[in-house]
Amino acid sequence: MSFNNLQLIAPLLKALSDTCYTTPTPVQEQSIPVILQNRDVLACAQTGTGKTASFALPLLQLLHLQGATKQNNCRALILVPTRELALQVAESFGVYGKYLSLKHLAVFGGVSQYNQVKALRQKADVLIATPGRLLDLLNQGCLSLSNIQYLVLDEADRMLDMGFVNDVRKILSRLPLQRQTILFSATMPTEIQQLAGTLLSQPIKITV
Ligand code: AMP
Repeated sequence: MSFNNLQLIAPLLKALSDTCYTTPTPVQEQSIPVILQNRDVLACAQTGTGKTASFALPLLQLLHLQGATKQNNCRALILVPTRELALQVAESFGVYGKYLSLKHLAVFGGVSQYNQVKALRQKADVLIATPGRLLDLLNQGCLSLSNIQYLVLDEADRMLDMGFVNDVRKILSRLPLQRQTILFSATMPTEIQQLAGTLLSQPIKITV
C-alpha cells in the first residue's frame, strides 16, 4: 500500500514526499478513505500510530476541495486534551498542508489569551483547541463555531480523564448538528462508547 492508493490530491502527496514517510500506517490506510467519503469514524488508536495524519490529511483535502469561503469562521475543529498535543497537531497541519492555502490556528490554556484573541481575528479554516480555553474564548464572544462542518475529538479518553467532560459537552452543544465527526481514543471505556453513541452517526469503527 502506498499513499498514492488513498485518493489523496497532488499537493498532499507532494507534502508527504517531503517527509520521510514511505507507506501509510494501518490507521492511515483505514481512516483516510472513509473520512474522504464523509463518514463518521470511531478509531481506537494510540499515540505513535500516525493517528494525526489519518485525520489531518483527509480533512485538509475536504476543506481544499470546498474552495475558499468568505466567512471568517472555522470549518474544522480539532479538540485535544493538552497544550502539547495542540501544538503537535498544529505542526502536523502545517507540514501536510504546506502546498495548500488553508490556515490553521491553535488555542490552548496556560498562556495569555491576548495573542490568541488577536489571531482569531484572521481567517482560519482549522481550529485546534483545548476545551477550557476554547470555552473561555467562546464565552467572551471571540469566535463562533456556527460554520463547523468537521469535528475531531483527539485522545478522547484522556480528555475525559482530565475532567473536561462538561467543557466538551458545552462546546458540542454550540456546534451545528449537521457535521462529520471523528473520534480517536487510545482506549474504549464505557464512557467513551456512550459519548460516541451520542455524537457519531453510523460510524466506521477502526481498531489498530
Ligand atoms: P502520531 O501518532 O500522529 O502522534 O504520529 C507519530 C509519529 O509518526 C509522528 O512523528 C509522525 O510524524 C510519524 N508518522 C506519521 N505517519 C507516518 C508514516 N506513514 N510513516 C512514518 N512515520 C509517520
